[in-house]
Amino acid sequence: MKTIDQLYLANKRTFIRVDFNVPLKDGVITDATRITAALPTLKLARDRKARIVLASHLGRPKGKAKAEFSLAPVAKKLSEIFGQAVTLAPDCVGDEVERQVAALQPGQVLLLENLRFHAEEEANDEAFSKALARLADVYINDAFGTAHRAHASTAGMVPFVKECAAGLLMQRECEYLGKIVRSPQPPLVAILGGAKVSDKVAVIDNLLSIVDTLLIGGAMAYTFLKAQGVAVGNSLVEADRLDIAKQLLDQAKKSGKRLLLPVDHRVSSSPKGDAAVEVVGQSIPDGLLGVDIGPQTETLFAAEVAQARTVFWNGPMGIFEIAAFSHGTMAMVDALVQSSALTVVGGGDSVAALTQSGKAGKISHISTGGGASLEFLEGRKLPGIAALEA
Ligand code: AMP
Repeated sequence: MKTIDQLYLANKRTFIRVDFNVPLKDGVITDATRITAALPTLKLARDRKARIVLASHLGRPKGKAKAEFSLAPVAKKLSEIFGQAVTLAPDCVGDEVERQVAALQPGQVLLLENLRFHAEEEANDEAFSKALARLADVYINDAFGTAHRAHASTAGMVPFVKECAAGLLMQRECEYLGKIVRSPQPPLVAILGGAKVSDKVAVIDNLLSIVDTLLIGGAMAYTFLKAQGVAVGNSLVEADRLDIAKQLLDQAKKSGKRLLLPVDHRVSSSPKGDAAVEVVGQSIPDGLLGVDIGPQTETLFAAEVAQARTVFWNGPMGIFEIAAFSHGTMAMVDALVQSSALTVVGGGDSVAALTQSGKAGKISHISTGGGASLEFLEGRKLPGIAALEA
């Protein structure tokens, strides 16, 4: 895969697909991580005197121009952190936009308006892809978070631009996630948590072929425990996934991989944090539900992480949004931070827990794409990456 640093960009209209799909509350950006993550690529483009055209989606405007999904707050924030004016175009395609792009001087930045104001973006429409390609001498994809989608701006336009390459963020994501999937230093320990087994069946399936040990926490664990006949009380269980959970447990056994489930839990009568929390062993009594892994499980999981040379983590160990149920998730944060292994964390909630802890800097790589990183770990070729390699 070609990367941006291999290209001559001076005076070229350099179209960079970024992932500026930031969280907004009342028009204010509540977390600018995705904007800062694009800065290395933007700085490189500016240093090389590129005429910079940025394109992103924001939210789900469903093919219609809607003021609440405008990238205007992003243009403002980017100009502050990039230290130069960022003009927001009135649209992402069309005559006026082409005129504004043509007028760009080397080093100047034009941010196109939300790509998803056009239904053709997600439909990967060819005419729309060509209209986007008309804005570009060079195409750079730095939007790893959207690389698992075959949309006009991530895949469709690529064949219509002469020179295409990955941005620095995309390159880094592929390098680190590639180290997990293709060349992990053993032992490789993966920790999976979160709410649903159904979202992660394919990841577990593929991870079982590459990990030495798989640790499962969060609500997902209850489906696995129930599949083994362990009482889980009122815990969240996906009844229609019990069979697949059983199959995955068998698969682990047959392939000689260790799949560890919680040996104790923090339980409560309510998931809302308004009732007492107590610690129980592996079986959960009726009337109570598992809200977090227990202290023995924390010790067990942390010991696995401590002897690993490669660690991947996705998904919280409990309902970590409630402080009283965040202990297990924070214990995983500490285990990763203290580890000397290559550590890769993906997924919004685990990243949020890391950010909360203030220790994110100690992790080798924090993936900016939750869904994309999971699909990468499923062993699938992501359309946005495949397009660059074609
Ligand atoms: P996911 O999007 O699948 O990674 O799931 C993340 C969500 O799982 C978070 O909002 C957590 O609150 C939730 N979660 C984790 N553990 C539990 C649990 N024991 N019971 C209910 N929800 C949980």
